Amino acid sequence: MTKQTLSFQAEVAQLLHLVTHSLYSNKEIFLRELISNASDACDKLRYEAINDGGLYEADSELTVKVSFDKDAKTLTITDNGIGMSAQEAIDHLGTIAKSGTKDFVSKLSGDQKADSQLIGQFGVGFYSGFIVADKITVESRRAGMKTTEGVRWISGGAGDFEVETIDRPARGTSVILHLRDDALDYASAWKLKGIINKYSDHISLPILMEKEEWKDGELINASDENGGRQPGAMLKTGEWEAVNKGSAIWARAKKDITPEQYTEFYKQISHDFEAPLAHTHNRVEGSTEYTQLLYIPGKAPMDLYNREKSAGVKLYVKRVFIMDDAEALLPTYLRFVKGVVDSSDLPLNVSRELLQESRDVKAIREGCTKRVLGMLEDLAKNDKLPETEKPADGVTDSAAAVTDVVSEEDKAEAAAHAGKYSKFYSEFGAVLKEGLGEDYANKDRLAKLLRFASNTTDTVSVSFADYKARMKEGQEAIYYITADSATAAKNSPQLEVFKKKGIEVLLMTDRVDEWALNYLHDFDGTPLQSVAKGAVDLGKLQDEAEKKAAEEAAESFKPLLAKLKEALKDKAEDVRVTTRLVDSAACLVVQDDGMSTQLARMLKQAGQAAPDIKPVLEVNAEHPLVKKLDGSVHFNDLAHILFDQALLAEGGLPADPAAYVKRVNALLV
Ligand code: ADP
Repeated sequence: MTKQTLSFQAEVAQLLHLVTHSLYSNKEIFLRELISNASDACDKLRYEAINDGGLYEADSELTVKVSFDKDAKTLTITDNGIGMSAQEAIDHLGTIAKSGTKDFVSKLSGDQKADSQLIGQFGVGFYSGFIVADKITVESRRAGMKTTEGVRWISGGAGDFEVETIDRPARGTSVILHLRDDALDYASAWKLKGIINKYSDHISLPILMEKEEWKDGELINASDENGGRQPGAMLKTGEWEAVNKGSAIWARAKKDITPEQYTEFYKQISHDFEAPLAHTHNRVEGSTEYTQLLYIPGKAPMDLYNREKSAGVKLYVKRVFIMDDAEALLPTYLRFVKGVVDSSDLPLNVSRELLQESRDVKAIREGCTKRVLGMLEDLAKNDKLPETEKPADGVTDSAAAVTDVVSEEDKAEAAAHAGKYSKFYSEFGAVLKEGLGEDYANKDRLAKLLRFASNTTDTVSVSFADYKARMKEGQEAIYYITADSATAAKNSPQLEVFKKKGIEVLLMTDRVDEWALNYLHDFDGTPLQSVAKGAVDLGKLQDEAEKKAAEEAAESFKPLLAKLKEALKDKAEDVRVTTRLVDSAACLVVQDDGMSTQLARMLKQAGQAAPDIKPVLEVNAEHPLVKKLDGSVHFNDLAHILFDQALLAEGGLPADPAAYVKRVNALLV
């Protein structure tokens, strides 16, 4: 292939612009990204070589070399991994394959500050080289291809790049960064080592740098901190030494790992700039042996709600990288978890298909799920700061006082964890709820982790247990309402009687709620009851007088109800008198076992099949409009208006909005 110039895909050009303009506050991450790519390339070679040993070309010691040339102002990262063919270089370095990245780029606002925050959560991989380089040359040859089939790729990071075929005896890839003038300080062994120690210590292959040589207290090769080269001194020692610890962090003992190292490893694998909320690190022994290091991120990715989205756990077998995104290792509803599982039992050539069927994997999956739920339970327990201990009035028993004293350490510990679960829940709560349907075995644990807003508590902080503890005497169910938004839920007519009686009702406003609740009928023995389904039965919460009044109303309204039913026979399944309304004239409810009108609406909006639901119209016998109905010359119009307004009040739309407007206007005139 002779030299040709090609354009970057539009999204890449946009991303590059952003990289060069807003990432300068955290320049050094470029090295982490490029070393991580080099290490991935070695992992890929090792994996492909399981089936084709010839790919090693008699060079099976995989390494990453970092070198620099102060005079040429270059910094080079070289690996002898899988390499790239010319076409792969064009495809992988000129386009963005991952749909997540595309979404991400489309969300960029152009506001540098906001965008650099976003990009921090995302990770820019190869393109981060342009933070410090105004030109990047990549030279590569794919393992197994001829030495004449190497490729050189050059770009200045603007709109296009050049590619040509070159001779390249060495397998693998060299990324040569032509440093910007303001990034020349990266051409320093001391500085590079510092960054490698910070970000890439755990990389299990050796990261090599050329050894520096000292003579009479003076550095005589070029890689010294001050750049002074002695006249006639040897330029290169030609000896390379590993500068990383090289032991996979998860394989080390917990006590030897600092919190900072855990955090750095997380940032490395997740491309997140923020620290995770929690991690769990365990060696599991027994019939299935594996090590797990799992993290809960503090921020949801863009594509969290895409259930097809890749999982976040990498699979290793005996420290050999096998695959990214091993979705078999955790249930889908825990897809936000990042980390590593290293198994001692699985074969190296395990495939995704095999993973799905393996008994070992099943055990790992159960073990990982338990650990993640455990982490969440801990966060939930420590979410609220313990209230400052005050001795209760009249308690003078000194023994009791002593046990209540919280040590300073515990207080600091509590303060460090406070608010984390709330943060987690606002990012991932809706996804966690999917687990009710997906993970039957852990349903009860999951139910305890759920939080809701209620008509008496604005923040999403009420657990089922909190709710139960506050239930009124005689209350026999946990009441909830589903709606499109908190405002719609709070103002729903169905809530009126609960408000009047001061009964708490949980507001469920996530799209997944309705579906998830199909799988949860009770909490700890107390049934869950939608206030928009079935007839209200407040049971013991209603006093005798109220019950009697309701029965009388039902009796005296019988003829009117029959007329309404006839007028609305195409729209309503039934019409009845209700005690659930206080201010509103009417509301719609569905049968106890029916799908809610709201879920049906949502399914239709999403283009899915949903049954046409005929709800029950409930009317408030005390309402003036209802009282006036009987004998009105406008009976038919009023009946329809009553129905359509009930629909409007719960966020729906009349089936024939124009007819509704006409009817109302006729009355207004
Ligand atoms: P990511 O690594 O997240 O996929 P990058 O932008 O960093 O995204 O890299 C894009 C692709 O370019 C990689 O997926 C890989 O296929 C290829 N690539 C990058 N660096 C190397 C390398 N050192 N050796 C082989 N392939 C590489």
